[in-house]
Amino acid sequence: MESSAPSHQGVRQVRRLTIPTRRNETTGELVVLEHQSEIEGPTVAITANIHGDESVGTAIVHALDAHLAAHPFAGRVLLYPSCNPFGLHERTRFVTGSEDLNRCFPGHPKGVKASRLAYTLWTDLKEQQVDALVDLHADAPNSVPYVILDRPVRQGPKARKQMAERLQDMASASGLTVLREYQDRIYTRFGLDKSLAGAVVNLMDVPAITLELGPRRRLNPEWEALGIHSCLGILSQLGVLGESPVRHDTFVEGQWRRTAGPTPTKEGLLRVHALPGDTVEAGDLLASVWSVEGTCLEHIVAEERSLVVAWVENSWVRAGEVVLTMGLPEQGGL
Ligand SMILES: [Zn+2]
Repeated sequence: MESSAPSHQGVRQVRRLTIPTRRNETTGELVVLEHQSEIEGPTVAITANIHGDESVGTAIVHALDAHLAAHPFAGRVLLYPSCNPFGLHERTRFVTGSEDLNRCFPGHPKGVKASRLAYTLWTDLKEQQVDALVDLHADAPNSVPYVILDRPVRQGPKARKQMAERLQDMASASGLTVLREYQDRIYTRFGLDKSLAGAVVNLMDVPAITLELGPRRRLNPEWEALGIHSCLGILSQLGVLGESPVRHDTFVEGQWRRTAGPTPTKEGLLRVHALPGDTVEAGDLLASVWSVEGTCLEHIVAEERSLVVAWVENSWVRAGEVVLTMGLPEQGGL
């Protein structure tokens, strides 16, 4: 414990977790901003910047840090402003090379760098006995903000149903559009049960959701305000704050599952016709691909009723490339 100062309703302290390093490696640490209230309540972790080039969560955490110091709250809130300080400094998604921290949980003290980083965070979350977790990410400039719900694939039917309800309650409180992860088989094949939220849900049996808030590599007041709004709603639903969650004006009703949209068959300039947040029907125009000379090479149309979520960052696209994240209507439980 480095510092301890009384705040409005609770005590704020800064903790620093040492990341195990190998010889010749620069040392690193994870910073935790901890707010403890005198009023009993849950322990909630809010993590940011697992992908080093997704910095909007860090700004949101700073704003929440100030909010908690100035407002009454219950329980304990653990804020992790940067879970990947290496990627943040190097301005890359990864920890080092192509090591994706969000596929490494629970991690290992003697593993690759990303695995050791995951282990450091995981150990702290376990020691602190968190009751819920919110992980803050960013997607693309041309995207609707959304919540991702992991699949509780490792749980039996009864526990899975209970977990699904807890995840859905947290997601609703965010006020954002909700997208469920890929179906079980693909979910596991992509290693999504080793993402932070996926591992917390599946290995800790603690509810955890992921928020995708605007573009990576940049900050702006609109996206920050949106993230703060969502986090305050979730903290209220969990009993930390006494406010009422409010739906955001980008919210799209429905039960959607994440999927990759139709891919182009030609290389060219991608012109987008359906905007993030639009619901489209089979045959509706999504985008067109153009040559440099100005010829329309193809129309990309929706194959079925779906939700437009996020367009690829590049405007020059290649044949067979995934250019669009969509939501497909899904019936039944998570
Ligand atoms: Zn991310």
